[in-house]
Amino acid sequence: MSGETIVIVGGGQAGGEIAVQLRKLGHAGPVTLVADEPHVPYKRPPLSKAYLAGEAAVESLYVIPRASLDKAGVELKLGARVTKIDRSAHRVQLADGSSIAYGKLALATGGRPRGLSLPGADRANARLSSAGFSNVFPLRTIADVDAIRARCKPGARMVIVGGGFIGLEVAAVAIKRGLKVTVLEGLPRVLARVAVPQVSAFFERVHREAGVDLRTGAQLAALEGEPEVRRVVLGDGTAIDCDLMVIGIGIVPNVELAVEAGLAVDNGIVVDEQTRTSDPDIVAAGDCTSHPSAFAGRRIRLESVQNALEQGRAAAATLAGKPAPYQTVPWFWSDQYDLKLQMVGLSAGHDRCVFRGDPATGRSFAAFYLRDGVLIAADTVNRAADFMFAKKLVASGARIDAAVLADEGVALKSLLPASAPA
Ligand code: FAD
Repeated sequence: MSGETIVIVGGGQAGGEIAVQLRKLGHAGPVTLVADEPHVPYKRPPLSKAYLAGEAAVESLYVIPRASLDKAGVELKLGARVTKIDRSAHRVQLADGSSIAYGKLALATGGRPRGLSLPGADRANARLSSAGFSNVFPLRTIADVDAIRARCKPGARMVIVGGGFIGLEVAAVAIKRGLKVTVLEGLPRVLARVAVPQVSAFFERVHREAGVDLRTGAQLAALEGEPEVRRVVLGDGTAIDCDLMVIGIGIVPNVELAVEAGLAVDNGIVVDEQTRTSDPDIVAAGDCTSHPSAFAGRRIRLESVQNALEQGRAAAATLAGKPAPYQTVPWFWSDQYDLKLQMVGLSAGHDRCVFRGDPATGRSFAAFYLRDGVLIAADTVNRAADFMFAKKLVASGARIDAAVLADEGVALKSLLPASAPA
């Protein structure tokens, strides 16, 4: 059993999982977790859902209480930032000038919100600093949501930039809280990168029915106002009055430490199935990594809780000397209004899509994506049982007749190959 010192950089779900699993796997040596946020590792999904709605206490977000980490002997350095990795000396430097020696290092640095690029954007991107617009917010942290919530007063005009999951979840919460909500999506439809047009149209309909002013193909031209943004001007000259803005246009992976240390980086820190980077003493997990996916047949970088947790477990196993390769079928979920969207697999590259239920009229359906007759992905809305079997069907790589998939009369369970786990 290894007694060497393990340092984890980043206190998100991946970093937290590595710390917890290391002890479960019997690692007896010192473990230090360095996290630049002031919290123990916490779940981000509720930030744009129950926590924004004021329906969840901050403590309910924590994945593990501080006392449990203390009991497990995990040394926490919260509000501390690693600024450099010295690979030859096996040390990390911290922003306060101190340094920590490591035997093995885990990078779980996640990602940060992508900024806007348009006139006035430098101030919008200055993230709550005194130099920035104090009514323009990213949404990645508890601090971001606390600041947004403080301005979520009924009647306030919220402009959301980005019609992806976060933008749409925020819209659903804000409209229920009585705000006037405008969503600006630059592409011709929402969720364009992850969903087929019928699914995009479904979410556009639902949001419009709820009262959201949802505009697609909307190009931002300028932010006007002083000292806060009061008008958002679009490329076609339209101006939208605004009390607060939320920017949800994706993240960029935090790879700078790795780049500076000379590790291989390519849209994420390059890792293998066992989460090893190009340095045998450094692993990486979560949103910050690019990993080989046998399922996708290529390297991918995922931004999901499932990936952060499962890759975190694989990283801990590697660090503890009990490697268990990370190979999995990606899945994801989003909650908006009374809708639970669940997605499994990767639909990119599908050549056929069939539906159970009609997304044009109902609020419950499943979309199945096939390539060469093989089910490669499924999206379900308010169909938990279908999702459970769809996960197994996608994982099985089975060939399934599209007409059968579309037939509500055929139970998905009956399509599982005999070899698939029950
Ligand atoms: P992160 O959560 O980004 O954590 C990394 C941490 O490391 C951060 O705290 C960062 O500040 C810190 N850090 C970075 N560099 C340093 C450094 N040098 N020194 C010290 N600390 C550092 N996923 C789903 O599957 N379903 C959902 O419904 C869903 N909803 C979401 C809603 C929101 C609002 C957000 C923001 C994300 C959501 N996600 C969802 C995505 C999911 O939360 C992320 O994929 C997951 O949290 C990634 O975990 P991570 O540990 O890899 O990275």
